[in-house]
Amino acid sequence: MDHTRSESIYKEAVRYMPGGVNSPVRAFKSVGLNPIFIDHAAGSKIYDVDGNAYIDYICSWGPLILGHGNEVVLEGVMEQLKRGTSYGVPTQIEVEMAKLIVEAYKGIDQVRMVNSGTEATMSAIRAARGYTGKKKILKFEGCYHGHSDALLVKSGSGTITYGVPTSPGIPEDVIKHTLVGRYNDMEELKEIFKTHGSDIACVIVETISGNMGLVPGKKEFLQLLRDITNEYQSVLIFDEVITGFRLGYGSSPEYFGIEPDMACFGKIIGGGLPVGAYGGKEAIMNMISPVGPVYQAGTLSGNPLAMHMGKNTLEYLRDHPDVYEVLNEKAAYLEEGIKSNLKKLGLDLAVTRVGSLIGLFFISGKAENYDDVKNCDLEKFNIYFKAMLEQGVLIGPAQFEAMFISTAHTQEELDQTIEANYNALKCAYNL
Ligand SMILES: *Cc1c(COP(=O)(O)O)cnc(C)c1O
Repeated sequence: MDHTRSESIYKEAVRYMPGGVNSPVRAFKSVGLNPIFIDHAAGSKIYDVDGNAYIDYICSWGPLILGHGNEVVLEGVMEQLKRGTSYGVPTQIEVEMAKLIVEAYKGIDQVRMVNSGTEATMSAIRAARGYTGKKKILKFEGCYHGHSDALLVKSGSGTITYGVPTSPGIPEDVIKHTLVGRYNDMEELKEIFKTHGSDIACVIVETISGNMGLVPGKKEFLQLLRDITNEYQSVLIFDEVITGFRLGYGSSPEYFGIEPDMACFGKIIGGGLPVGAYGGKEAIMNMISPVGPVYQAGTLSGNPLAMHMGKNTLEYLRDHPDVYEVLNEKAAYLEEGIKSNLKKLGLDLAVTRVGSLIGLFFISGKAENYDDVKNCDLEKFNIYFKAMLEQGVLIGPAQFEAMFISTAHTQEELDQTIEANYNALKCAYNL
């Protein structure tokens, strides 16, 4: 496969942009390659500037649940472009979008649109702190909630619950109120609340974590989170930036039967444009400016173009509930194919799937939290990634990313992917 043009663009890119990219995972650094540069995409396929075609399992990291350039999503966007791209004054479509989210998501009464998932989680935490008057927040290692200072924290060695920054540029003082727990660990969660419960403003969690590979949250764990936050009057925030409208139209409350106090969205709700949102119970959302004293604003928030594509996506998902069955069937087929390849090759690797998200871990045994998955054999993954790419299958260029399946993936492409998976596994393990 020829990557001459990508290589030449990359050379210029690194001159003008840190690492040549606008988001680190795109640099392909963790797989030891240089990035491919994209020319265009359609449906389930993405094409690089050298004319190579790939079956795309990144799907922009989740937003493209209906595939690239879906006509339903793009409907009316050209008209909107002509009528203006941003006003800084309210539009009706923002109201329609908010109504769609509130009606779909059990437990929240109002939403505020923002421009990214990072902004959504950061703002939700501020609202939760404003509402409770408490300082501490609890997150779980391996869950990603965007790159705001207080959330770029991992558990320190020694005392389990006090974290250390995962990045320079974040003073210890800024994260001293962030506690870090182990995902799916109920005993530790009880301990944390016994010690700090009365100071915890909120708990933020991915109900299904898509940022340490795909690690499903256990229902008992999430139920305990619900019960314990109720007991201590902490705000429970579900970070649904990946899971929102992907697990099903009702997202996690429908999937698990558990309602949070607040929820954060992004990815799918923008239909491929930059969007985020956070919502919550009325009493909490009443804290937010201009109704309440908690300040949060955005020049381009609720942007009409983004609202248009988001609304088209959500309405389609709402009116076609069978989409989720179709997606799940495709993903289940792929999962089975991967598992049967592993069996044929005598390999024992962890495979996870929830709905249209799949995780393949280069470890044997279970994948229930970050401690399990951090021991993945990254060298093997890198060989695997490269072999997949060479066969025209683009997966996330890092072990700790999930595979995203869209409605555009065809049966034939799934079969091609399963075959590529077989060959790539063989390659990684020298079989
Ligand atoms: C992607 C992601 C975010 C951050 O969203 P951005 O739009 O990249 O800022 C937050 N939480 C989760 C669960 C995510 O997957």
